[in-house]
Amino acid sequence: MDLESPVSKLPMVGPAMATRLEKLGILTVQDLLYHLPSRYEDFSVISKISQLQEGETVTVQGKVLEIKNIYTPRGFVLQKAIVEDDTGKLDVMWFNQRFLTKAIHRDDYISLSGKVELSNHKLQLQSPQYEIIYPGKEQSLHTGRLVPVYPETEGISSKWLRTRIYNTLQNLKVEEYLDEKTLSEHHLMPLDEAVRKVHFPNSLEGAAEAKRRLAFDELLFAQLQAKTRKGEWEEKTVGNKFDIVGNRKQLTQFMNNLPFELTKAQRKVVDEIYQDLTSEKPMNRLLQGDVGSGKTVVAALAMLAGYLNGFQAALMAPTEILALQHYQTLTVLLNPLNISVGVATGSKKDYQGSDIIVGTHALLTDNLNFKRLGLVVIDEQHRFGVEQRARLTAKGVNPHVLTMTATPIPRTIALTIYGDLDLSVLDELPKNRQPIKTWVVPQTKRDSAYEWIRQQKTQAFIICPLIDESETLQTVKSAKTEFEYLSKQVFPDLKLGLLHGRMKPKEKDKVLDDFRQGKLDILVATPVVEVGIDIPAATIMLIEAADRFGLAQLHQLRGRVGRGERQSYCLLFTENESETAIKRLKYLEKINSGFELAEIDLRFRGPGQRFGTVQHGRLDLKIADFSDPKLIEETSLLAQKVFSSLNLFPLLREKLAKSKISVVAN
Ligand code: ADP
Ligand code: MG
Repeated sequence: MDLESPVSKLPMVGPAMATRLEKLGILTVQDLLYHLPSRYEDFSVISKISQLQEGETVTVQGKVLEIKNIYTPRGFVLQKAIVEDDTGKLDVMWFNQRFLTKAIHRDDYISLSGKVELSNHKLQLQSPQYEIIYPGKEQSLHTGRLVPVYPETEGISSKWLRTRIYNTLQNLKVEEYLDEKTLSEHHLMPLDEAVRKVHFPNSLEGAAEAKRRLAFDELLFAQLQAKTRKGEWEEKTVGNKFDIVGNRKQLTQFMNNLPFELTKAQRKVVDEIYQDLTSEKPMNRLLQGDVGSGKTVVAALAMLAGYLNGFQAALMAPTEILALQHYQTLTVLLNPLNISVGVATGSKKDYQGSDIIVGTHALLTDNLNFKRLGLVVIDEQHRFGVEQRARLTAKGVNPHVLTMTATPIPRTIALTIYGDLDLSVLDELPKNRQPIKTWVVPQTKRDSAYEWIRQQKTQAFIICPLIDESETLQTVKSAKTEFEYLSKQVFPDLKLGLLHGRMKPKEKDKVLDDFRQGKLDILVATPVVEVGIDIPAATIMLIEAADRFGLAQLHQLRGRVGRGERQSYCLLFTENESETAIKRLKYLEKINSGFELAEIDLRFRGPGQRFGTVQHGRLDLKIADFSDPKLIEETSLLAQKVFSSLNLFPLLREKLAKSKISVVAN
């Protein structure tokens, strides 16, 4: 067994479990070991029974004197145990966990972790984590230590993951690939140690240090990949150098006929793009622009230049809803010039002979071909993998590529992680935009806020708390609960809909359609509401537990409203009333730029702390985050060194060869 083995090779992991693990992105043993805890439960205080105090979170170890089921008159089953150590006896209760009386037996030596509660004047542990300690196997996993808690999925609990990871680590050593000198220069712990400690640390500091090592690797590889891609890209020459000067007249005419005047930022970016299009090298440009900054029309101007040079263009968007939205926009803009716009999505295909084809992944199917594809535009590029992008560009001969994102990425970060791309930024919103009025709403005003929403007689989004980084069952459950509660208790007179990531695409579309058509007043959704959806009639965005999000993320969420004529509002709810939390959220009341907010996010985050699921690009860093510019700088320097003298890093070279990154020295 090695890191590349499929997880199904592991003991206790059958095909059923392997399928579930796939939902967490875990295919190989390596994926399992790099499935990092989202937090740790601190059960490291081991206490004698006589010393217990109400409210403490502790671990107690002792012998089971008795365990039995108790049937309550209302049909519940409780499991009650009495545990004894050399200082006293303690009651332990679980609720409705019938299997426990089979799993735990009298005279077992047991370790229990949980919170000490007072019940009928007696201390007791309620629903503690438990684990039986066998002679010779004193190492505890689920109790008596810092216990890792993982992102979970249906049928895969943290306890299960913990055991698998622990056992795997017993049989495997993770090979180092940095030499001693590099390790000590960068204050890194050895890789094998880091993998062990990140799961089973002795202290939170140890865990943080382990995570730093893994983050270091991730950033280093990301940058080596970017450099490699850049090297490969620079080998290419275009078959399609565009003529812009000769077409200037038509391009200007098109701009003048737009229903609005381009912003200064849009004009500048269009110039940057036109510069690229006239070059020998294919364009490879990332356009970053805040929600609503007008990226689509910029893309249209690039596609128009392609058309005037006799080339077709493709625009790919991550969801059907977005693709159809773009299809409509481009049709309106370009049809008057006799440019035909086609569409290719899962359910709608109409693109024969089109000059421009807009679509989803459906664009990638083999039987969709272009005669002269000269330009590829990818919207919300972080939602696509490198491979998908490559498959689309392969439909032309080295076409120009424009990728677009609304995710604000601070410049230093963009320069390293996206080192292979040229950057353009739309740092200005169109003039007519009304800022979204944003308020941090104190708990005491919750009811009046609901009442205010009712009085507005408009459509509203209500975003449920972010519970885990990926959309876990827990998140979905809490969204359902919130939906029930709001439907019955708060807005019984209004029509509510529910949207979460685990719904089938058809169900999602139906709910969104109903909302768009005004059949629903309020859409209760998990934080994964579709990027870019445009429902101009919705004017209120209410976000629960706002303190769990990054500011940039909140900004993106509120960007779902404020798209129509009417004044829009964003209400931020939080139960965290600490001064820092409120102060941070209040920036949203004053600042309207996603980029500024992203910078403030960095200031507020301590290293290692992370808010929510901001995806920062096709790389979607799993371990590293961007709150640590020093780590980015360190890895950037090392990546440069490695890139120019790979011979000095034989182990790393081997590892890169294995992971199919070919580093071509420049
Ligand atoms: P995003 O950058 O979020 O993709 P869009 O391209 O969807 O933004 O543009 C948002 C809205 O702003 C669209 O309705 C578009 O027509 C409009 N728009 C784009 N540029 C301008 C401008 N310069 N002035 C006014 N409105 C604009
Ligand atoms: Mg857009």
